[in-house]
Amino acid sequence: MASKRQIDVGGVKIGGGAPVAVQSMTKTETADYEATMRQIRAIADAGADLVRCAVPRDKDIDALKRIVVESPIPVIADIHFNHTLALKAIEAGAHCVRLNPGNIGGPEKVGEVADLARAKGTPLRIGVNSGSLPRHLHELERENPVEALVTAATEFVALMERLDFTDFKVSIKSTSVPNTIASNRLLAERIDYPLHLGITEAGTKWTGSLKSAVGLGTLLADGVGDTIRISLSTFHAEEEVKVAWEILKALKLRERGPVLIACPTCGRLQFDMDTVVAEIETRLEAYDEPIEVAVLGCAVNGIGEASHADFGITGAKNEGLIFAGGEPLRKVPQERLVEELFSEIDRSLKIGRVERDEAKVAEGAAWLAQIEEENAGEMTPERMAALEAKAATEEALAGGTELPMAPAGAATQRKRLDEEASPTAGRRFTRA
Ligand code: SF4
Repeated sequence: MASKRQIDVGGVKIGGGAPVAVQSMTKTETADYEATMRQIRAIADAGADLVRCAVPRDKDIDALKRIVVESPIPVIADIHFNHTLALKAIEAGAHCVRLNPGNIGGPEKVGEVADLARAKGTPLRIGVNSGSLPRHLHELERENPVEALVTAATEFVALMERLDFTDFKVSIKSTSVPNTIASNRLLAERIDYPLHLGITEAGTKWTGSLKSAVGLGTLLADGVGDTIRISLSTFHAEEEVKVAWEILKALKLRERGPVLIACPTCGRLQFDMDTVVAEIETRLEAYDEPIEVAVLGCAVNGIGEASHADFGITGAKNEGLIFAGGEPLRKVPQERLVEELFSEIDRSLKIGRVERDEAKVAEGAAWLAQIEEENAGEMTPERMAALEAKAATEEALAGGTELPMAPAGAATQRKRLDEEASPTAGRRFTRA
């Protein structure tokens, strides 16, 4: 069940069908105002909606007072063990405070924080971590760690409700991907508050990204989760934001900037695709438009499955083809493929349409048709997939089975809301 309730963190809506919010955490000492602001700007530029800063000392509070004013995105104060710091963070103007009710010194101190948060209109994030569960749940944790995590979270929710405070989101975090998935699924069935998702200590950029994509992606695909943070062992917090966006873009939950698609390559590869794809990926980072760019390692299949891409390239026999919207645009020497692709993208974005030179279009189409014809008998991965899909469709139709359709669930709903919320999101490049 997706969350029904919604909270507002400094203008960013969380839960209740709002787009999944991306957050990251600064890795600087918060008291170092200059370094922290530099990192916050990098995080914001990478597309984060929210940023969290650790506040373990009084001197961090002094910097926090300035940071909440200067930050381009809302700031969440991350507090552990010390309810006085939570009170000071709220007074300092933090847009949200994250705390673990289990380690803040008892219900009375949680009550003090809730009272001030209510008075100031500051939402809270209440979090549970595997490894720091309340003592009375330790035995249950050994028998059933998922039930123990969810019980701890629901007990904290009950405590907040007894304190007459409901302006919060909840997080359950574990280093175990299966436990993160199972506990958040169960929690989403039991409460309707917004959920923050993350995998604790996920690891390096490579392993952490994969673990997060599997764990968070599984939950998000189910419609569970309202805000995400990718935890990576890198000082460059903006890398966490980029990974978060790739997960959201892959699930088509949100759009931001270009999407690059590339064939996996095989023995038919006709140019140095590793270098070309890496160069295109880097150059696309400079673009905000949600264009889709395809790179095909050979022209044996024609444009095929990349026909929905806004722009694309493919190559063969020292030559290459630039295509747009499923149609050839022009042939170019292979060593100029990337340059010509980007000049085509730039020109098209500038004038708002793809310019066609009919003679060059015809020349490109003839070149493509000739390569397809020469390789008509090749059983490429794409042709295999097409044959399998055709066979499955025929079998389903013969057996009267309904063909699977994309569910119009929480993901679709969220994407629609996201598109409404942002004037640029959802805008595809248009062709005249
Ligand atoms: S056959 Fe398909 S996978 Fe192989 S290089 Fe060509 S486009 Fe790429």
